[in-house]
Amino acid sequence: PPTRLPNVGTTIFTVMSALAAEHGAVNLGQGFPDFDCDPRLIDAVSQSMREGLNQYPPMIGVPALRDGIAAKIAALYHHRYDAGSEITITAGATQAILTAVLAITGPGDEVIVLDPCYDSYVPNIELAGGVAVRVPLTEGSFRPDFAAIGAALTPRTRAIIVNTPHNPSGTVWHASDLQALAELLRPTEVVVIGDEVYEHMVYDGVAHASMATVPELAARSFVISSFGKTYHVTGWKVGYVAAPAPLMAEFRKVHQFNVFTVNTPMQHGLARHLADPAPYRELPAFYQHKRDLFRSGLGGTRFRLLPSEGSYFQCVDYSAISSLGETDFCRWLTAEIGVAAIPLSAFYGDGRDQGLVRFCYAKRDETLRSALDRLSTL
Ligand code: PMP
Ligand code: GLN
Repeated sequence: PPTRLPNVGTTIFTVMSALAAEHGAVNLGQGFPDFDCDPRLIDAVSQSMREGLNQYPPMIGVPALRDGIAAKIAALYHHRYDAGSEITITAGATQAILTAVLAITGPGDEVIVLDPCYDSYVPNIELAGGVAVRVPLTEGSFRPDFAAIGAALTPRTRAIIVNTPHNPSGTVWHASDLQALAELLRPTEVVVIGDEVYEHMVYDGVAHASMATVPELAARSFVISSFGKTYHVTGWKVGYVAAPAPLMAEFRKVHQFNVFTVNTPMQHGLARHLADPAPYRELPAFYQHKRDLFRSGLGGTRFRLLPSEGSYFQCVDYSAISSLGETDFCRWLTAEIGVAAIPLSAFYGDGRDQGLVRFCYAKRDETLRSALDRLSTL
């Protein structure tokens, strides 16, 4: 049959989760929590369902949820979005990113992604008929290389996708990185698509560097986040995008024919839950504990730990343990040791093998301990 994505197969996350299930392995591969959300959130959603909030919501999302998001962004990042014209509720960040790309990318337009990157970006750009330009992050540190980004800008560049905190590396951008990006883009009309789904998972007292914190960047950015990550409900698939009104108008043209609306009772339940800032304010300490537990447990092994400044991912270099390629090592680790991980090669355009894998530590402490027991022999 005709195909728009000839090189795309089943995602590595699905493949590794299936392999973990087959071998009864502890699944530290695909990124999702193995614990439940706050019961008050379930109550808030059930209450919304019982109140009959079960039909189509407004196309752009439930007003109370958009108001809550605008207030939260203003409090945290000091940028005031208009809840009516500048915020839209989406079916997770995945749909927000695809819709943003489709809204502004035409045939032959170039969109810069920073390699390694989340696996949906490049297929999204290709579906829009655009050309993905992969600019490598600095080797070893995974930090942005602004000289390389500058060199990749052309008159055809429509957008750049920036992901901080970063999946898979766990690095975070700092205020100085945002300044460098703002300066680089000043003479251009390049749009920034800020994938900030891990915005509340930044550790060691560091503040999340949202595109919304810099007025010059906010003026040209889609800022995207996901309640799936923030409230431990990845299966609900509710997220949002904030952008200046002219960009948002283009976004909504696509959104209305893409999903049209996002499920109503979840939006009302999330709006009620969002009124209390405590849950997302407590998130950094909650995950920092898990990061530290996991990292100290790996301390006695031959894995070399990379920094994990943010996100819920820990990358390790296993080259002192095995000479297998990354995918083979992950299969071996799952089948023989009983712990699933994701090969970093899955996030690169050229599928390069560097002896690096990614673990997800969004797990109960007992799950992490059981994984560490199994890994302690290595
Ligand atoms: N971007 C990144 C970097 C992610 O890790 C994820 C989680 N899979 C997403 C986007 C998608 O988020 P959602 O589940 O809300 O669609
Ligand atoms: N974001 C998660 C990860 O990187 C899961 C993504 C997915 O299953 N598509 O593991």
